[in-house]
Amino acid sequence: MTIPAGQKILSIQELKTYFYSHQGVARAVDGVSFDLNKGEVLGVVGESGCGKSVTAQSVMQLVPDPPGKIVGGKILFHEKNLLTLPQKEIRKIRGSGIAMIFQEPMTSLNPVFTIGNQISEMFRIHKGYGKKQALLAATEMLDRVQIPSPHKRVHEYPHQLSGGMRQRVMIAMALSCDPEILIADEPTTALDVTVQAQILDLMQTLKREYNTAIQLITHDLGVIAEMTDRVVVMYAGQVVEEAKTRELFKNTLHPYTRGLLKSIPVLGKRTASDRQELTEIKGMIPSLTNLPKGCRFSNRCPQAMDICTQQAPELTGDGSGHNVRCWLHNRIQDHG
Ligand code: SF4
Repeated sequence: MTIPAGQKILSIQELKTYFYSHQGVARAVDGVSFDLNKGEVLGVVGESGCGKSVTAQSVMQLVPDPPGKIVGGKILFHEKNLLTLPQKEIRKIRGSGIAMIFQEPMTSLNPVFTIGNQISEMFRIHKGYGKKQALLAATEMLDRVQIPSPHKRVHEYPHQLSGGMRQRVMIAMALSCDPEILIADEPTTALDVTVQAQILDLMQTLKREYNTAIQLITHDLGVIAEMTDRVVVMYAGQVVEEAKTRELFKNTLHPYTRGLLKSIPVLGKRTASDRQELTEIKGMIPSLTNLPKGCRFSNRCPQAMDICTQQAPELTGDGSGHNVRCWLHNRIQDHG
């Protein structure tokens, strides 16, 4: 189906994914809603444990069950709720509709098969190619993700490649079936800075050339600033702020987002000579099994007021697409 740029292709609505253990119920994702539009790069940012990866795993239905369970909400892909589709349909969508790459490619690559073998497999399963045609397509794919000497590399095993090359292979596999959406979960965190830049560059090229929508999960606001069109900020299982990237940096509303901005070197301010003062956000994310009654950020917030510990704020906005969950900005009771 051809969809014009800017049109919603994925809509996560009030998603709740909980983990059950002896310690209690961890509300890892607790009523998360956001959309992904055709051809856009959406950044999902937050500290570890904020629910950004579990949200992505829920979309791909990769949440380990038990202990995890999606207990509420909808995930609409082309208006179809993925949470009610049979497994056979989900398998079809995984790969050809929505593909995902992870921080550590070795967890997804099989060490006993050549990379050519593994990429070919995707073409054989999803496009019904024969053995020869699939290997040729795999080699072309390696070339597309800028792996040098693809004809040689296609016969190599994952351990023979560097970390950056392995991540390129993962991207090649993910894109082999022309997915409409690529979910990238911290794809560059394990790589050194130069390779990181190359991989981000490659993702940008692919977005430009193939108009793939990308959901980029990261804890790095520098990456967000360089790569994304729009940002969702998550904290303790909830969305606390969302806006167009430029707007978020120019007009940061949530104290947590402000804290993140102060704690991470951003855009060109990566050296000591820039004298950017980096401050950590004091305190810890609350236990997901024992969340506070009011605002989940209240124990760390420098601007907390009485109401903040008593009543949980809603995500609200003024209709411009810049939404925030904070009593400081809760004047307009319009659920953005
Ligand atoms: Fe801070 Fe209160 Fe806003 Fe929470 S609601 S972020 S505690 S000001």
